[in-house]
Amino acid sequence: CGIFGYIGNKNCIPFIISGLEKLEYRGYDSAGMAYIRNDSVLEIKKVVGKVQNLKEILDFSDFSKVGIGHTRWATHGGISVENAHPHTDCKGNIVVVHNGIIENYKELKELLINKGHVFKSQTDTEVIPHLLEEMVDKEEIGLEEAVKELFKKLEGAFALLIMDKRNPNILYALRKQSPLIVGFGIGENFIASDIPALGDYTDRFYYLKDNQMAKISANEIKVYDMGVGKYIGVEPIRIPQD
Ligand code: GLU
Repeated sequence: CGIFGYIGNKNCIPFIISGLEKLEYRGYDSAGMAYIRNDSVLEIKKVVGKVQNLKEILDFSDFSKVGIGHTRWATHGGISVENAHPHTDCKGNIVVVHNGIIENYKELKELLINKGHVFKSQTDTEVIPHLLEEMVDKEEIGLEEAVKELFKKLEGAFALLIMDKRNPNILYALRKQSPLIVGFGIGENFIASDIPALGDYTDRFYYLKDNQMAKISANEIKVYDMGVGKYIGVEPIRIPQD
């Protein structure tokens, strides 16, 4: 299973495909990606099987400066297109990819269904976009604050990438007991489960630690440590790639 995200000025689609291909060695049963075409239209593409199958359904003439990709190793919910990631909220604004397991998803799902949320998959993951939607739209908490709240609300292990169609200039990345590495570019930034997926694009990295959230834009990476409860400055480490 693996995660890859891109934000910058180039087209994210080829980066995500190549990133997911380099993560194939980790094993997976389905693949998917989401991007925001022309800064406004959320596109979600998902398949059962190989990244090659995903390539076959993509429109490579689409252009998007931000996107997230995923290879899934099913833990909750069978192997199907509906259960493949990314997952969204009801309105299709907030989109999430996840590696790991949300242990308290049943309670959360029941609570959200009682509040009127309609689920499209059997995964544990889908509670996340709905939880965020609930906080952002009903409780009127900003997305950044809502994302930070996830560390309190979710039990289990997660590497998460979160994107909101209404703000294509930001990607959020969260880590708890599942690897996630930020790659620093110039006018563009990357995030992935492992170094091999990033090595073609940069030699400067930051390994997110447990309970850290990265707020990533094309020109900046800000890391918040929710253990300490605040923003921390981070220096990338340099790992030469040959
Ligand atoms: N638990 C999630 C699912 O079954 C994510 C699995 C993964 O790590 O790929 O969809």
